[in-house]
Amino acid sequence: MAEGSDARFELVIGGREVPGAKGEHRPILDPATNRPAAQAAVGSRDDAHHAMEVAETAFRESNWAADDGARRGKALYRLAALLEGQAEAFARLETINMGKPLRESRGDIAYVVRTLEYFAGAADKVEGESIPVPGPRIDYTVREPLGVTVHVAPWNYPLLLSIRSVAPALAAGNAVVLKPASLTPLTAVAFARLAKEAGLPDGILNVVLGSGSEVGEALVTDPRCASVTFTGSGEVGRRIAELAAPRFVPVTLELGGKGPVIVFPDADLERAAKGIGYGIFGNAGQMCWAASRLLVHESIRAPFVEKVRGIAEHLKLGPGTAEGVEMGPLVSSDHLAHVLDYVRDARESGGTVVVGGAKADEPDLAAGNFLRPTVLADVPASSRAVREEIFGPVLSVASFSDADEAVRLANDTPYGLLAALWTRDLATAHTVARRLESGMVVVNESPTTYPQTPFAGVKGSGVGFEQGFRALDTFARRKNVLINIGVARKKA
Ligand code: NDP
Repeated sequence: MAEGSDARFELVIGGREVPGAKGEHRPILDPATNRPAAQAAVGSRDDAHHAMEVAETAFRESNWAADDGARRGKALYRLAALLEGQAEAFARLETINMGKPLRESRGDIAYVVRTLEYFAGAADKVEGESIPVPGPRIDYTVREPLGVTVHVAPWNYPLLLSIRSVAPALAAGNAVVLKPASLTPLTAVAFARLAKEAGLPDGILNVVLGSGSEVGEALVTDPRCASVTFTGSGEVGRRIAELAAPRFVPVTLELGGKGPVIVFPDADLERAAKGIGYGIFGNAGQMCWAASRLLVHESIRAPFVEKVRGIAEHLKLGPGTAEGVEMGPLVSSDHLAHVLDYVRDARESGGTVVVGGAKADEPDLAAGNFLRPTVLADVPASSRAVREEIFGPVLSVASFSDADEAVRLANDTPYGLLAALWTRDLATAHTVARRLESGMVVVNESPTTYPQTPFAGVKGSGVGFEQGFRALDTFARRKNVLINIGVARKKA
């Protein structure tokens, strides 16, 4: 796979790599050094509409949608196998582009392979049902693909969060147009190159690079757009929902969170501290489901915070490609400044920085976007650092006296994606899990998900869901067919 500051990544439309109508390229920066890692084509509104046209033609004229689902499944299995065969190269590309440690990128690519396999197996199970109705009638439903589905992806898990919705859309027989984030387009392009080799008809999987405001909006408003799946900020999610509304285009939105992690005094505190470390410092905290608000029982607050502080202090920072690195840089210098702004705000509103809170300035890190893992305490519940999604390695700490207070504090947020709790008591686990206003709850685990389990938020965290067998419903509509079989046949 081509790599290096001159390597070009183009749009992939109709099975061909094309530079785009503008003929422009822009540097893609390695966040560990802020030096160019590759050049990416700058797509335009015209390219977006062209991709939609090509996708629609492929949908209508190729045998992808009409074919036996098992054949689509086989193509997706082949795609998974091809990706698995190049997993190390893909992981490297993801790390160079996004910054996360190679160990995490390897995990991301393995997750993509597993997602493709899961939905490959589902492709021949897009079933309808037979429904009893009165009289001499038969009623049944058939499931049909929607047409051209649009997928707008973020930069924090570039390939994983793209394929999480692309895989079920393809399995159900749709044609796909994917727009990766401008900061991290590389693995999406590399992935689309594999589609041809796997036997997907040209035009069934297209990738358009370019800005959200131009290319993203053109895709969402294109008359051929049959559904939109978006992962990113609430602000852009709202904009996309508004743009899709006039044509009643269905929208799935995954918009981030401000996850609470509740630690009861009976928990395995060693495991809890490690899990919390992963839940906020993994991927440098750039996770929609980050466990970013620690709520710890007041009786164990001081020793527990000390454990978490120790973990933060000893995490090895460095470029994701270096051996043994546990936390990489933030995705861009702008994002680093954005996260530091929250830390400043927390300080100014009376909070204390228990550990971290500053850019790493060692000579080998200074050019990159490295932030020290940060723990904040005593930040007022009304401050921006506690209310808003920071999307960085920043944990805020508060304490509670009983389960009621823990639930109240946990639910006191506009978001509702993932909540975590640590306890050995089964009754506490079940009763608190039920009372948490979130789409997902993990007990005695750091944030964990699988392709077969639904991934969804409530409140400001979004609408619809991804993953799990029922994700196929998002991409295959139901048609009801009612037949009266009581009509006497005419004699010949
Ligand atoms: P955005 O929501 O701006 O971007 C996500 C995707 O949407 C990108 O592909 C982007 O393209 C595209 N996009 C932007 N504007 C439009 C538009 N008007 N129409 C269609 N598509 C559009 O996220 P940011 O990258 O700016 O991150 C901002 C904040 O969002 C983060 O700090 C974090 O809080 C949150 N976030 C949450 C994520 C999650 O997993 N839930 C993931 C990423 C961010 P382009 O890259 O070209 O702008």
